Amino acid sequence: MTSPNPSPEAPVRASKAAAGTARPQVRPTAEGWEQARTVEGRPLLQFASPRVKQPPVHLADMGLAERGEKLKELGLPAFRAKQLSTHYFQHWTVDPERMSDLPKAGREELVSQMFPPLLTEVRRQRTDKGDTIKFLWRLFDGALVESVLMRYPGRITLCVSSQAGCGMNCPFCATGQAGLTRNMSTAEIVDQVVAANRAIAAGELGPKEHDDERVTNIVFMGMGEPLANYKRVMAALHRFVDPAPEGLGMSARNITVSTVGLVPAIRKLADEDLPVTFALSLHAPDDELRDELIPVNNRWKVDEALDAAYDYYRKTGRRVSIEYALIKDMNDHPWRADLLGKKLNQRGRGWVHVNPIPLNPTPGSIWTASDKAVEQEFIERLRATGVPCTLRDTRGKEIDGACGQLAAAED
Ligand code: SAH
Repeated sequence: MTSPNPSPEAPVRASKAAAGTARPQVRPTAEGWEQARTVEGRPLLQFASPRVKQPPVHLADMGLAERGEKLKELGLPAFRAKQLSTHYFQHWTVDPERMSDLPKAGREELVSQMFPPLLTEVRRQRTDKGDTIKFLWRLFDGALVESVLMRYPGRITLCVSSQAGCGMNCPFCATGQAGLTRNMSTAEIVDQVVAANRAIAAGELGPKEHDDERVTNIVFMGMGEPLANYKRVMAALHRFVDPAPEGLGMSARNITVSTVGLVPAIRKLADEDLPVTFALSLHAPDDELRDELIPVNNRWKVDEALDAAYDYYRKTGRRVSIEYALIKDMNDHPWRADLLGKKLNQRGRGWVHVNPIPLNPTPGSIWTASDKAVEQEFIERLRATGVPCTLRDTRGKEIDGACGQLAAAED
């Protein structure tokens, strides 16, 4: 269904585009769907999760001490927490049959108390000769989410979801088009990784490089805006990096949190003492375009988001990534590459690199990726300003599993 989308904002002026090139300026109006708007006509932003029933509490929602407390409440010794944690975080099992270190009497009840099933697999799709798998999960309340598992030489990356849907309303992203259903719980986020580890161990992700394979890298680039679900995402990060058996014992630098640019939350993240890799979805260096492309830009402008990203680098020493989906005639003009380079260099050198991503098509949209020659020029101009730049290899397009394509429908 196509609906014309009258926008109160002034169109991006052609004069600016003409400064660098004669190419046209396409405006980011929604195509093939109607963007939810406020009464004032601005794109709707949903920061708060709708108040709906939360999933049952799971062991992965708690730290080790809290797990011990919970077991005491159940009339059991606290040391059982360590045993249960080892089964889950090191053996990726919730099967009572395999927990022979626990007394047989009451074992099944204990396991069902501590490990209520959270993710029910609906579908598993493969592509890239088996090196990419997209999982579709149903949550306890029927909400659907996806995660995408990708094998690369020397690493295995899982792209996780942090919310069912997303409230940030970016018109070029399939998840944004659907709105926010609810925040995911910490354990629902963590269980995606444990489930992926199980699949890898079962040999489902193509030929193994070695026997002890598992997810080595996590990117919060599935469904949802991770910083809008701050508390639960922080707890999930702890489960990822805390040493076994409290958590998975992964390296923080191999975990990437990607955001549309919730500035106060970026600043909070920098103070967490969790030096994860930070990525900012910028997609335009000028407020005029970004106001329409990334609705949250009406709240926090390009310069505020870049300042927060730079401060993240200063506090953590971790080099920041800037994501930039290249959309034909919309944000791929040479002057924008120059302006982006200028804005990044104004803040310093060596603190950032840019990841252009060819736009992945979403249903109903007429927007397309930039032409290869334009993409190449954009990259070269940016590099000429001294900013390192690498085109992202996006996986899973054939199964709608690539960036911005996760919409979690059953058919
Ligand atoms: N909400 C977070 C993470 C989710 S998306 C964020 O916005 O950063 C991960 C990345 O995919 C983001 O940079 C997002 O802007 C990008 N993306 C969204 N839709 C896309 C599309 N259709 N093609 C390419 N990249 C897209």
